[in-house]
Amino acid sequence: MTKNSYKYIPDHSYSRFKHIRSEWFDIYEITKNRFIFFEPRHCEQAISNLVIGENYAALIDTGCGIGNLKDAVKMITDKSVIVINTHTHSDHIGNNRQFEDIAMLDHPLSRKISSEGVTHETLYSEILDESLIQKPWPQDFNPENLYLPPFEVTRWLKDGDFIDLGNVNLEVIVSPGEAPDHICLLDRNERMLFCGDILLKGPIWTHLEGGSLKDLLISYKKLLKYIDSFDYIMPSHNETYSDKSLLLKSIDGAEKVLSGQADYQLITDQWGKRLRKYDFGEFSILTLNIGSL
Ligand SMILES: [Zn+2]
Repeated sequence: MTKNSYKYIPDHSYSRFKHIRSEWFDIYEITKNRFIFFEPRHCEQAISNLVIGENYAALIDTGCGIGNLKDAVKMITDKSVIVINTHTHSDHIGNNRQFEDIAMLDHPLSRKISSEGVTHETLYSEILDESLIQKPWPQDFNPENLYLPPFEVTRWLKDGDFIDLGNVNLEVIVSPGEAPDHICLLDRNERMLFCGDILLKGPIWTHLEGGSLKDLLISYKKLLKYIDSFDYIMPSHNETYSDKSLLLKSIDGAEKVLSGQADYQLITDQWGKRLRKYDFGEFSILTLNIGSL
């Protein structure tokens, strides 16, 4: 989650792609069979990525749960859709309730969230508070009492699994740090790495429960082993894509923070939590305000 991205002003990466508008989502055609569904009126600036294979389409994350994502996806493909969640923060599973085929990492946290859902109170605080969105709400959407019901996971993933979409394989790379159940997905066909929340233009969160900057650095170094297999980093927030050099810059930043060589500012987030913000220009790293990370 990247609430501090509310004031993030996207650069012009969107304007270079064909744009299709739906009621809530701005849809962009990145390549012939790769699309993004962007939520510009929510402070999360969430992105769900669609990867279309010959037999199936994969929807990587389902955003904040406000607009009708299923209908928006139907505007692009009639293939059956498998949802793959990069992790279980609320802004990545918001529309899981609309889909029947769902894959996520086999991890105690994802087992818990899928079996319990997310309460209205949590959603209200994290997603639905009116300070977080630009109205109007979509037609047919009522935020009152909205919650995420439990959902069935049809495929539990593990590190190194491949999800075969027909001529496109997505490889699962377990990558904790921002969330303990976080995965990335490698698409060798289009040389894209779908990286959820761990490589972003904007703030990288390590301060939520289960987050760890040390784990994040380990995950970054693991991704480095695949660097010859991708050129583009496809995040779940803010920008359509980044060059893979962002991985090298992020490793350098994380190492500087962990070794005490980086300066920080103390900030207060929207929930009143004091955090350290280590600013590296195009991205920043947020940590708890404690001596040892
Ligand atoms: Zn997020």
